[in-house]
Amino acid sequence: MKRSSEYINKGELFLISSPIGNLKDITFRAIEVIKNVDYLFCEDTRVTKKLLKEYNIDRTLDSFHDYSKGEKEDYIISLLKNNNTVGLISDAGTPVISDPGYELVRKSLDLGIKVTPIPGPSAQVSAMIMSGMPIKPYLFYGFLDHKISKKKSELESLKDYPFSICFYESPLRINSTIELMFKIFGERNATLTREITKLYEETIEFNLSEYESFPKDLKGEMVLIVEGRKETIKKDVDIILELTKIINDGFSLKEATKMLSKTTGIKSSELYNEYLRCKK
Ligand code: SAM
Repeated sequence: MKRSSEYINKGELFLISSPIGNLKDITFRAIEVIKNVDYLFCEDTRVTKKLLKEYNIDRTLDSFHDYSKGEKEDYIISLLKNNNTVGLISDAGTPVISDPGYELVRKSLDLGIKVTPIPGPSAQVSAMIMSGMPIKPYLFYGFLDHKISKKKSELESLKDYPFSICFYESPLRINSTIELMFKIFGERNATLTREITKLYEETIEFNLSEYESFPKDLKGEMVLIVEGRKETIKKDVDIILELTKIINDGFSLKEATKMLSKTTGIKSSELYNEYLRCKK
């Protein structure tokens, strides 16, 4: 057991969250820490300079990329061991979340160095809360592998997960990813949110089955949320039985799907399609 009261080094590593678009989305504390840490590391110095300029902060920046991680990590650790305070800031959002920093945090803790988060924006949280998808609980998955075979096996492993899943994806791959998800997950409701806090912020609610008509030219940064496997949807027979019972009571299919939707939480359009599919 290790308790934070037992940190042996005086250095401190601050993980500073930064805006994901709108530069006003930064906390007073983040600004204070940015101004006062002995050393400040960021991914792309041009991106962070823009942020600092907005707040009239003029200070030296050093870079910390995925590809320079190893040697930079050793350097940062040596700074921390020499009792310096170090800030780590990402291009956007919360460091370590699909961004560099995990190994640095691990090494720091192993060496008894205090790690302090400066909370703030993260695209996944904004996307989840505005999605209208069930969020209690949800899985943050981040990026799938780019390689198709790896991506397939990742999706296979997520197929039976019963709660919403949040993915980061690039506009270059979003259409093929949605198609692949449909092939592996089947019909599922999904939400794509792009350019959060920016001028062209947009949310698209759809079903994975609509992959063919999904817009092909979406640009910007995006988060894809897919609902989890619904136990009930697998029980085609139950759905058909329930709907048939309601219809036999004198209701139309449309009315029946609306009623069943309220009790199961499954979209009425989905129940409608499922009914027609099974009756074919
Ligand atoms: N650390 C960041 C965070 O806390 O959200 C994530 C960094 S990751 C390298 C970048 C990905 O985050 C993008 O490809 C996109 O999926 C998502 N993202 C970042 N900013 C976004 C925004 N404004 N709108 C939608 N998605 C965003």
